[in-house]
Amino acid sequence: MENETIAVKPPRQRKVKGKVVIDIQRCKGCELCKEACKENAIEFSGTINIKGYHYAIVNNDLCTGCVNCALMCPDAVITVYRTKPEGKKMEVNQADIQGQLAAMADKS
Ligand code: SF4
Ligand code: SF4
Repeated sequence: MENETIAVKPPRQRKVKGKVVIDIQRCKGCELCKEACKENAIEFSGTINIKGYHYAIVNNDLCTGCVNCALMCPDAVITVYRTKPEGKKMEVNQADIQGQLAAMADKS
């Protein structure tokens, strides 16, 4: 067999990372955010919150800041912070996203 050289790609560098903050006392444990997260970054607590629900917990090491979870949350208790390489943070919430979607719809 000939010697083969296998090209090894460096680990994918994420251009944007996410940090998710959840108002856990207002979470009702519906799991819609977990279903929306393609990175499997969302799990549920072993303990219950003041409303009696197991609340969502995010592993921010896996989060890409895609905001799918915030879009899906019916109670808007999720805030996503996206970090760009230069370290600038921008807060994205459900209202911002709805506004951007409406603006895109107006242009088309
Ligand atoms: S922002 Fe995206 S990747 Fe991060 S927890 Fe929410 S759905 Fe998952
Ligand atoms: S979608 Fe919102 S209310 Fe439902 S489990 Fe996730 S954070 Fe809680």
